[in-house]
Amino acid sequence: MIRQYELVEIVKAYDPDADEDAINRAYVYAMKMHGSQMRASGDPYFSHPLEVAGILTEMKLDTASVITALLHDTIEDTEATAEDIKRLFGDEVLRLVEGVTKLTRIEFQNAEAKQAENFRKLVLAMSEDIRVLLVKLADRLHNMRTLHHIKKPEKRKRIALETLEIYVPLAERVGVNKIKNELEDIAFQNLNPDAYDSITTRLKFLREEGESVVTDILKELREKLGEADLEVNVTGREKSPYSIWKKMQKKNISFEQLSDIMAFRVLTEDKALCYHVLGVIHSIYPTVPGRFKDYISISKPNGYQSLHTTVIGPENYRIEIQIRTFEMHEEAELGVAAHWAYKQGGGKQQSIDGKKYRWLRELMDIVEHAPRPEEFLEHTKLELFQEQVFCFTPQGDLIELPSGATPVDFAYAVHSKVGDTCVGAKVNGRIVPLSTKLGNGDQVDITTSKSQTPSPNWERFVVTGKARARIRRFIRSQQIEQFAELGKSMLHKAFKNEDKNVTDKQLAKVSKQFKSDGVDDLYAGIGSGHIQPKEVFKAVYPEHKSKPALKEDFLGERKKTKSRSGKAKPMPIKGLIPGMALHFARCCHPLPGDRIVGIVTTGKGVAIHTVDCDTLESFADTPERWLDVAWEDEDTDVEAETHIGRLNITLSNEPGSLGNLSTVVGTNGGNITNIRITNRALDFWEMLIDVYVKDSRHLSDIIASLRSNSGIISVNRAQSK
Ligand code: MN
Repeated sequence: MIRQYELVEIVKAYDPDADEDAINRAYVYAMKMHGSQMRASGDPYFSHPLEVAGILTEMKLDTASVITALLHDTIEDTEATAEDIKRLFGDEVLRLVEGVTKLTRIEFQNAEAKQAENFRKLVLAMSEDIRVLLVKLADRLHNMRTLHHIKKPEKRKRIALETLEIYVPLAERVGVNKIKNELEDIAFQNLNPDAYDSITTRLKFLREEGESVVTDILKELREKLGEADLEVNVTGREKSPYSIWKKMQKKNISFEQLSDIMAFRVLTEDKALCYHVLGVIHSIYPTVPGRFKDYISISKPNGYQSLHTTVIGPENYRIEIQIRTFEMHEEAELGVAAHWAYKQGGGKQQSIDGKKYRWLRELMDIVEHAPRPEEFLEHTKLELFQEQVFCFTPQGDLIELPSGATPVDFAYAVHSKVGDTCVGAKVNGRIVPLSTKLGNGDQVDITTSKSQTPSPNWERFVVTGKARARIRRFIRSQQIEQFAELGKSMLHKAFKNEDKNVTDKQLAKVSKQFKSDGVDDLYAGIGSGHIQPKEVFKAVYPEHKSKPALKEDFLGERKKTKSRSGKAKPMPIKGLIPGMALHFARCCHPLPGDRIVGIVTTGKGVAIHTVDCDTLESFADTPERWLDVAWEDEDTDVEAETHIGRLNITLSNEPGSLGNLSTVVGTNGGNITNIRITNRALDFWEMLIDVYVKDSRHLSDIIASLRSNSGIISVNRAQSK
């Protein structure tokens, strides 16, 4: 275990200006808070945050990151509160510690393999500061280093798999190869112990057999480069078991067939020297075709820069050589972490800007340096993360939603039934309105009730197609109920007109003829206008001769009511069928005060027309679709509502006549909502205007005023389609 003064010394060694006092306080505080807690290894718990801090100092990270490492488990696992951390260590550290805590919380959800990609996105989306992710990666690295202390093999495997699927790609994405390689090897060892053992055994055998081939090759490489007067640093190693395994998998070959198991690295002072070294190596050893890669002139999307080549080296060994500058090497090992590392002479580098720095912007910067299509693709993918939110069910399942999604979207994403019956939601344990926008990592608990049905209001705030479709479907099914009610009254009216009775039994018998699924479905078909009541009548009483007066009766009645200018059994529109869909016909724009008639339309409920509307002629053959309706009360209740009246106007083409028109309408309390010019001649314009008015009298007043205006040639209520 690193001692307190040692930790401070390590940080001071690379950052003389580091806040020694704060590190000391964090060390003491974390040790005190974790108290007697133990790790699975039997070590005091505090050894864990301390080791994590140690890993970060190897990456030369700034003081805030090191302090965050020391405190990273205090909020989650001890009595410490966010207020305590803020008071003692300030806003920046609190923000970082809370960031790590959030990531730790989602770790405990049960991550299924197929959700790995979602988890990676979630972790990225939640790591608003790249240092949060770096502390988390170091945390995972130490947990992996101590994984063997966990007794249950299944648990070890689960953690190893999670590491390989989530944290390794993340480490790779931000370019921290140092952590990535170690995580990979430990995960591999736990997931596939047989393969790991077999590879390490063979490596050991080769090592003994070949007697330090690596050393021999190293010696020769150093000599040759020395002869060329190149001052460089050459190192060599066996490749890691996992990278060997991956290569065997990828190429589908056995260990024996795998020729390059050794990797050498040449580090130089500057870029030009890299190409010089490459020239020397290629002039001495034959190259293996297709293995040369220049990532210096065009770096990898995560910022990686290096030259790669494979040659037939000393003693005919195939060897891979990487050539890069010291700076590129640091970047390769530390990735974005290099940007937070303390740089000698360069002061605190970007760690100060880091406060406001979002990890994304940082990655974008890297991407920007090499604008190739692949990079742009990568860039686009990153942006996509920002358009999604990831939330958890109480069982820990991860639900991916578009950003802006609400608990209703979440409920429908879980299951249609959950959506249909949802009455309330708790987000992270707190009750919230159903229209609340969800955030990343939110745990959403939906309350359902069997008696609940989807609310049309939900349509205003849901963002997912599934939720929208289900809500609409429900509204439609509700309409069908209304149609059924309407159809029932229409059908019974038709039978009554013929002085006949009908029973459900009779209707059930004939319903199949109309492709209906039972009586209710038959009613709905009639109500929606798809089935004619008289056809049903004929089916029930095939022998019966219809009274020829049926149609005339109704029309006669209609004419009578028109001429009598009064009360011919008024049926209040609203009282007709409660909740029945009503709309005003666009052909005649009926207004309160107009005599009106209702027509059952196909699929759209009842259309209200004025009794003199031309369109009504087309319904003359289907009297059962006609409904006697009237305005509920002509004197009251209409003031609150406004209706559209449509006027056909011919206007002389003079300056100001259009202005006159709108002034006249306006001074009469009307409001023009739409104007459409239908004919534009040299001397006059014909147009249709829609005016918001209270009732027909109001519209008549406007018409009268317009007619008295000199610029206006003619004004009529429109009778058009
Ligand atoms: Mn931890």
